[in-house]
Amino acid sequence: MNSYHNHCNWSDGAHEMRDMYRAAREAGFREFGLSDHYVKTPFGDNEITAYSIDKSKLAEYVDACLACKKEFETDTFTVRLGMEVDYFPENAEEVVSELLKYPFDYLIGSIHFSNEFPIDHTAACWEALPPGGIDEIWHDYWKKIRLAAESGLYSFIGHLDLPKKFCFYPSYDYTDEALAALKAIKAASIAMEINTAGWAKPCKSAYPSRNILKAAHELGIPMLISADAHDTRHVARFFPEAEECLREAGYTAFTCTFENMKRR
Ligand SMILES: [Zn+2]
Ligand SMILES: [Zn+2]
Repeated sequence: MNSYHNHCNWSDGAHEMRDMYRAAREAGFREFGLSDHYVKTPFGDNEITAYSIDKSKLAEYVDACLACKKEFETDTFTVRLGMEVDYFPENAEEVVSELLKYPFDYLIGSIHFSNEFPIDHTAACWEALPPGGIDEIWHDYWKKIRLAAESGLYSFIGHLDLPKKFCFYPSYDYTDEALAALKAIKAASIAMEINTAGWAKPCKSAYPSRNILKAAHELGIPMLISADAHDTRHVARFFPEAEECLREAGYTAFTCTFENMKRR
């Protein structure tokens, strides 16, 4: 069992880095990576982007991860260093080249914003959208996922179909847009994840939904299982359910390895 998408209190996680690695080792993972948020927006920092690590402490974050590698690794447990990076087409190259000065094993490309709209912040943000606004966010989201994949900057793409979190679904069928994004992921030879955190959110559904997982399998996209844990109690949350979903989509458990992830 491996997992590469998790957070500690260097960003918006509840627990300390050491406690997360300890919990992962105790839960029986063979490999575990923290991937705290790195959020550099084209519009500046605000109270919503505070879920990022302190960007001036990047070197300290990496040092802390490397110290955990020394402390927690055993013959049967490997510590990986990652980062969940917010993708913005305006600055993606610059942000990733800054991160690549450090020895990260992988970078996750995620979309949490549509321009300045915070997709997974609150239901109230969605309720306040003008008519047509929900569809616009969805259109933009799939386009940004496609662009993030096409950029070739990331090892895998995070939580596809995140805009469903608060159950504000679009009025149109986004199958073609999602397929275009999946084809870009395939063309870039990168991976994606089934992110189990969605099962604990209002949408009560893993990211992405089953039809997208099935299409991903048909395209031959490597699939990882991630809990996106922000808490030591959640490091392996819903993993059996995720394996079942992946089996239904045609995947086998052994596709979920570090080796299928494009490394930096
Ligand atoms: Zn995320
Ligand atoms: Zn995350």
